[in-house]
Amino acid sequence: SKVDNPYAGGRGYNNPEWKAKAEAVAGGSRISSNPTAVWIDRIAAIEGSPNSQSNGPWGVEEHLLEAVRQGASYIQFVIYNLPGRDCSALASNGELGPTEINRYKTEYIDPIAAYQADPRFANLRIINIVEIDSLPNLITNVSGRASAKPICDTMKANGNYQAGIAYALQKFGAIGNVYNYIDAGHHGWIGWDDNFRPTAQLIADTVRLSGSTANVHGFISNTSNYSALVEPYITVNDQTRPSKWIDWNRYNDETSYVQALRRELITQGMPSTIGMVIDTSRNGWGGAARPTGPRTTGTLDEQINGSKIDRRIHKGNWCNQSGAGIGERPRANPGPEGIDAYVWVKPPGESDGSSRLIDNPDGKGFDRMCDPTYTGNVLNGNNMSGALPDAPISGAFFPAQLTQLMQNAYPPL
Ligand code: BGC
Repeated sequence: SKVDNPYAGGRGYNNPEWKAKAEAVAGGSRISSNPTAVWIDRIAAIEGSPNSQSNGPWGVEEHLLEAVRQGASYIQFVIYNLPGRDCSALASNGELGPTEINRYKTEYIDPIAAYQADPRFANLRIINIVEIDSLPNLITNVSGRASAKPICDTMKANGNYQAGIAYALQKFGAIGNVYNYIDAGHHGWIGWDDNFRPTAQLIADTVRLSGSTANVHGFISNTSNYSALVEPYITVNDQTRPSKWIDWNRYNDETSYVQALRRELITQGMPSTIGMVIDTSRNGWGGAARPTGPRTTGTLDEQINGSKIDRRIHKGNWCNQSGAGIGERPRANPGPEGIDAYVWVKPPGESDGSSRLIDNPDGKGFDRMCDPTYTGNVLNGNNMSGALPDAPISGAFFPAQLTQLMQNAYPPL
């Protein structure tokens, strides 16, 4: 039987491939022993893909064997290869076309599940982070919304995101020591009334499609994003919601968002035992630019902008954010109700996307949100992208980013 919180009571797997990259940067050894997730971002990554810029030669089996060798109690994998992946952005487009659901099942999910069910790994808790950004995109980036994208409409119409996720949940959920955490966006995406309940309903329907609500153990927010855990100097209320930064959202940080989303998911039929985790790998926002108290003078926007610890130009900015820092170190039961763990799912120092078009065999596109000269679109209020310059393609190591993330760590290193 499964434990209530798979993160509790032991050490997480420290991925040696990421550790080596982190330690190649000055000061990297201060963070390199932390557990980070292993991204299975293509079929070839299952057996290991020496020619990919994101993963190294180790496949799922090598990582599991090394986790046993380390005496780790849990290991985290990111399941990330849906047909028509990342329908509203270009930087992490995947290898499978919109209709390739059968390849997803038989060439991707089945072989991963076979390794995870191997009795050699029965004493590890295997945590799968399931399909980042997919279901939220079907709510916010489809026809009827200003940010609609044709591929998101296609994926909504053909049902292959739901079918793929349901299949993954059912396959992995059947394994006694495997725990599924489904991606649930972040507050600066799903926190508006138009998005919040519909997203919870779509997630709940997708879980039911898997055959049993017991196939989900919890949910993750802020994966690969930069949203703060808590905004200590801002209260969300009728006065502050009209500010440009909050923009009528109900939430202004991840802690309040995941706690409310957890309640909503339970209302929508998810088990009352679900736990939430938050990716804190890059949401620290320390360093010299961090406010030390609220700003109380000037216009509403001046007050909010002077009070927020999240120094982004706009919450819709998601690519290699300039000024960001390492966040809370991974740990179980950090305190706030309903939260199983702070986790590092995005390995710090791995790029979100290239700053300009870089030809690559990985299927990665070029998204202008990663270009520091880009002046934006409706998704980020037509603001500058806030991205760091000279970034490599998504998943590839970006040493200059890791240096800045360590400088701006909060809590400091
Ligand atoms: C990329 C993946 C990579 C992951 C972790 C994603 O944005 O598309 O290839 O493994 O980030 O860095």
